[in-house]
Amino acid sequence: MKQIRNTMIRAGLDALYFSGAHRVLRPIFGGVGTIFMLHHVRPAHAGLFQPNRHLEITPDFLRATLAYIRASGIDIVTPDEMQRRLAEQDFSRRFACFTCDDGYRDNRDFALPAMQDFDAPLSVYVTSDFADGAGRLWWIALERVIAKTDVIEAPIDGEIVRLDTSTLVGKEMAFDRLHGWLRGLSGAELTRQMGALCAAHGIDQDAISAELCLSWDELKPFAADPLVTIGAHTISHCNLAKQDEAGALHELIASRTRIESELQRPAVHLAYPYGDRAAAGPREFALAQQAGFATAVTTRPGVIFADNGAQLTALPRVSLNGNYQDTRYLPVLTSGAATAMYNGFRRGSVA
Ligand SMILES: [Zn+2]
Repeated sequence: MKQIRNTMIRAGLDALYFSGAHRVLRPIFGGVGTIFMLHHVRPAHAGLFQPNRHLEITPDFLRATLAYIRASGIDIVTPDEMQRRLAEQDFSRRFACFTCDDGYRDNRDFALPAMQDFDAPLSVYVTSDFADGAGRLWWIALERVIAKTDVIEAPIDGEIVRLDTSTLVGKEMAFDRLHGWLRGLSGAELTRQMGALCAAHGIDQDAISAELCLSWDELKPFAADPLVTIGAHTISHCNLAKQDEAGALHELIASRTRIESELQRPAVHLAYPYGDRAAAGPREFALAQQAGFATAVTTRPGVIFADNGAQLTALPRVSLNGNYQDTRYLPVLTSGAATAMYNGFRRGSVA
């Protein structure tokens, strides 16, 4: 299914590119700027089974994107500056804002050097538990479990299901099925089920955050770089919409104050974990404001319009997706045509 979806998205991007439709649509859907969403930035690695590939781009593709943005005369701004422009409705120049979720060490090792080449600012949204080396990056643990086994049993929706993971196709199908199931569980149940899968297949889930994420000690010098802004991504990387109101508010406030006390600098920008409609809606937008965040970004696809200034804690983003690392798509993505296509050509509504 995922392959078919990717093929259709690529066909849609190609259609927009080759037809030139994005140039026609740009005045309507182009908005005033774009917030790019990134996760890992690191060299491509061999290996056919990479179900999380959409969450990583190469440093070369990031540089190509930055070169395109610069050549287009678009300003690359910090979230503070983006907030100012939206608050003051100052849209004399188009802007782009580069944001990385989760707090991966490769953001420091590969993304920052690329940003420095272009003197371009970068925001990294840090999950407190990951910086503690105690968080659970369950989607990566799941990839590792499936990579090393030929068969997996799991109680999907209360029924023990046996999945053949002996072939690449089997592994990809199993990942989609298990990911979809796990994604719908509550936090405690997700932890329990992933714990059982990791224990059954000998994966050390607890080691993954320290292996991949910046620690607080590493974040201190990183945050001191003038191009870097550190934002919050909650304490535990939970789905906020599944928490009760007090729990969700605690995740927001505690993650902000933790970053501020560890790094001794303000953390007033937020990215909602998962960030889609099932994870961040009107209640979370209001809570983020209550928790003192000046801006908050979702994973809802869209470019920024002037009227997004009315709700700065519900901002859409454009994913720099590892499955579409082709510079010819960049004019399409920044025109807003691709996300407009995704949104059924309705102007992006945030609610
Ligand atoms: Zn995340």
